[in-house]
Amino acid sequence: MLELRNVNSFYGNIQALYDVNLYIDPGEIITLIGANGAGKSTTLMTVCGVVQARSGQVVYQEEEITREAPNKIVAKGICQVPEGRLIFPELSVRENLDMGAFMRNDKDGIKRDIEYCFDLFPILAQRRRQPGGNLSGGEQQMLAIARALMARPRLLLLDEPSMGLAPLVVRQIFDIVQKINKESGTTIFLVEQNANLALKIGHRGYVMENGRIVLTDTCDKLLADESVKRAYLGL
Ligand code: ATP
Repeated sequence: MLELRNVNSFYGNIQALYDVNLYIDPGEIITLIGANGAGKSTTLMTVCGVVQARSGQVVYQEEEITREAPNKIVAKGICQVPEGRLIFPELSVRENLDMGAFMRNDKDGIKRDIEYCFDLFPILAQRRRQPGGNLSGGEQQMLAIARALMARPRLLLLDEPSMGLAPLVVRQIFDIVQKINKESGTTIFLVEQNANLALKIGHRGYVMENGRIVLTDTCDKLLADESVKRAYLGL
């Protein structure tokens, strides 16, 4: 579904990604783990066109999208939930969800998808009229994911959904991410510092250090890998 081939990305003169190669098959949950500043967010931003690779290729469903504009990439079915959530704080929960569907005009489908989001996240149904900014951190993360789902993505990019949230809330959100993948077949690219949980819900994973992919395997094998245990699982 998605492939990065020898991707190099920069911020001005600073190189953030070095020859990154990775692939994602349809229906997979792929986990990308790594320390602060390793280049995880840059990888996601390179996929969705916010950062353009200086060399290498990003290929999505057999089509090169390396130099496509972000709005064109969203229209192709790739949707990102950015780090820090970035919901619209003054809009209500319901209006935030409507914003997620701004490129659609199938009214009945939109209505059905809003109901689906409310089934997935019942707390959002309870708070549908409240401003997004009044929600707790965990609820805002749920709203950010639900808003992304309203665009009917084929590939959902999640940037550190666990950031700043209590462990119980994180577990709840990861369970729902797994449910979204199982129920709708949405392919998920999950970037996380919480390696333990992310590797538990992922099918395959990549480990990134200093802008490079240094290890890749099934998540089961990565969880058992001694270097991963030492560096990322605190074992
Ligand atoms: P974190 O978990 O802290 O978000 P990360 O693995 O997502 O880390 P990136 O945010 O992709 O890492 O950062 C990769 C490198 O690029 C780092 O050295 C970072 O300082 C640098 N970087 C990120 N954003 C910018 C920017 N806007 N301008 C310049 N350098 C940047």
